[in-house]
Amino acid sequence: MPAGKIEVQGPLIKVKDLVKIYKLGDMEIPALNGVSLSIVAGEFVSIMGSSGSGKSTFMNVLGCLDVPTQGSYFLDGIEVGSLKRDELAHLRNQKIGFVFQGFNLLSRTSAIENVELPLIYSTMPARERRQRAQEALAAVGLSGREDHHSNQLSGGQQQRVAIARALVNKPSIILADEPTGNLDTKTSQEIMQLLTQLNEQNMTIILVTHEPDISKFTRRIIHFKDGIVLSDRPFQPLPGGQADSLPPIQTP
Ligand code: ADP
Ligand code: MG
Repeated sequence: MPAGKIEVQGPLIKVKDLVKIYKLGDMEIPALNGVSLSIVAGEFVSIMGSSGSGKSTFMNVLGCLDVPTQGSYFLDGIEVGSLKRDELAHLRNQKIGFVFQGFNLLSRTSAIENVELPLIYSTMPARERRQRAQEALAAVGLSGREDHHSNQLSGGQQQRVAIARALVNKPSIILADEPTGNLDTKTSQEIMQLLTQLNEQNMTIILVTHEPDISKFTRRIIHFKDGIVLSDRPFQPLPGGQADSLPPIQTP
């Protein structure tokens, strides 16, 4: 008998010494300067930091939309840097749902068609695609709006459609870059409540925001500055339910 093998469940995301340098002609623009961290399944994380601190670059790497200049990225145990282009696209499709600040829906297209879009290239039969899209719209509270075109929906509803589209492939992770950036305060809170519900159903969610009122919905806050992690800590409400904000813990 072979000795029993202990399988240790690794983190969903593990990055080590990530460096990203953009080249513009002769200029080199460093965007990430050595980022190392892990995120386990089920976390709800916000990425904060001033404009230009590398947040979107980091999200693009996590989302397999861009590759780092140096460093390693393991997504669910798979080393992303070792994959070919089509393998990368496949992994991205399987594991990641994207939500953007500007919703990025097709405008003269119905809600349900927008949600079906990520399934178009799968071998899934049309009827099943439709059903999956319907379920995803139901999950974001938009049953009955299937046939509305996106330009007939409010901003909050459009972002719900976009979240349904992110969910339709049953991804492991939702990546959202400033998902409430185009929404008013009340609608932003509703979208964050929806993301909280999804997280409670065990979806791993990583979002970028610069608003403390948004990040307080999450359970871990990572601050970026100049392409490095300035601080990384669990969110702790102050006693008495006060929401914000302990000063960030400085990493040495
Ligand atoms: P954030 O999302 O925190 O505002 P970004 O990740 O977008 O920051 O940008 C980090 C740095 O990289 C900035 O200096 C930005 O100008 C630069 N940058 C981002 N994307 C590109 C690109 N495609 N080409 C060149 N420079 C870029
Ligand atoms: Mg950005």
